[in-house]
Amino acid sequence: MKAVICGAGIAGLALAQRLDTFGWEVVVLETAPGPSTHGYMIDLSGPVQDAAGAMGLLPRLRQLTYPVREAVSIDHSGQIRALLTYEQPGKAAGGQLLSLMRPDLEQALRESLSHRVDLRFATSLVHIDNDVTGIRAILTDHSSVGADLLVGADGLHSTVRSMAYGDEARYLRYLGFHTAAFVFDAPDVHARLRNRFCLTDTLGRQMGFYGLRNGKVAALAVHRTPDPALPDDVRAALLREYSGLGWVTPRALERCPSADHIYYDQVAQIELPQWSRGRVTLVGDACQAVSLLAGQGAALGMAGACILADQLHRTDSVEAALRRYERIWQPVIADEQRTVREAARWFVPDAAWQLHFRSGDLKAGSRSGINHYRGAALAGESTPTSAETGIRKP
Ligand SMILES: Cc1cc2nc3c(=O)[nH]c(=O)nc-3n(C[C@H](O)[C@H](O)[C@H](O)COP(=O)(O)OP(=O)(O)OC[C@H]3O[C@@H](n4cnc5c(N)ncnc54)[C@H](O)[C@@H]3O)c2cc1C
Repeated sequence: MKAVICGAGIAGLALAQRLDTFGWEVVVLETAPGPSTHGYMIDLSGPVQDAAGAMGLLPRLRQLTYPVREAVSIDHSGQIRALLTYEQPGKAAGGQLLSLMRPDLEQALRESLSHRVDLRFATSLVHIDNDVTGIRAILTDHSSVGADLLVGADGLHSTVRSMAYGDEARYLRYLGFHTAAFVFDAPDVHARLRNRFCLTDTLGRQMGFYGLRNGKVAALAVHRTPDPALPDDVRAALLREYSGLGWVTPRALERCPSADHIYYDQVAQIELPQWSRGRVTLVGDACQAVSLLAGQGAALGMAGACILADQLHRTDSVEAALRRYERIWQPVIADEQRTVREAARWFVPDAAWQLHFRSGDLKAGSRSGINHYRGAALAGESTPTSAETGIRKP
């Protein structure tokens, strides 16, 4: 059996590894010219412990993990307003909460691929023929490839989804925020962060910072806006939206890199009535984006990929496997998406009373207080269990 996977991100690489292990021939197409080197910090929790365990990845992920001990909310003048240790959410996540940069996670996934996996950078799809017997994909390098299955693992703005289901506006639910992430060099800021995730204690917009191993700093930014349209100049938008936040934010903005090194996007979820059409299916954010508010998208993407591969391995019927994958996993995702939407109003408070309430809860470490970048992941709640996901250990 042969699969073409479009997208060498977290879900696509996880699926490639699993299908290859189960004896499938796998081609992975990735539009980027090579492995990405910039990104943002990802906390892995819940189902990823099962998925990464099944893939034999945990030892490598532990090597790459940053020792983040606590999340602190810091006011304009540098005073700590609230604190949450990572110990409790780590236990809730079934052990250690793994905090690693997205390029490191992708590197670990790539390292776990056998030489049999055909990973093609700078390549994408221009056309798909999809019928009951299989697919034929025309690629951007003008070659074509036939397979039993085509999987769109190409993220929130999936091309495969658009080809199979039409315009993304019908499936993308905008949650009312824009987000940005970048890495900058500032040893003075790094020294003040220590092993903490430091968030600004601010209304309507928020920045967060992690110290990285090489003296650099990873910055995250989220702000409320009713307009889903992305700005033409993302760097200028960042400087405008996040000015005046105090503490280390002026330094961060001063050191902010050029637009091609900034991640900038809407905060959104994807809701599709069906995940598969003929021999084309979707994994990860392409079909199940929960948004960064959940702090679980990567974990859920890897878990979904493992379930899909597992179902394909259990039966000779691709159609039956695709139906079962969706039947098992879609309700888990729908539930998580609902939880995140309900929690969204606590994320980046826009009123002083919410900020006060949130800070109090953050001190107490309770669920409603964990409404920042790591939301549900830190709370360790509504995380699907391995019994629900059915991921098999090796
Ligand atoms: C700021 C931020 C913080 C987050 N924090 C967390 C966290 O703490 N924990 C967590 O679990 N999740 C977190 N997430 C969510 C997580 O990053 C995503 O859910 C996850 O990356 C989804 O993985 P994916 O493989 O489905 O898609 P992506 O990671 O988006 O990967 C898609 C891949 O497909 C490629 N691609 C796109 N289009 C094409 C095409 N046409 N052809 C070929 N290739 C293509 C892209 O280049 C990319 O490599 C966060 C997200 C953000 C934005």
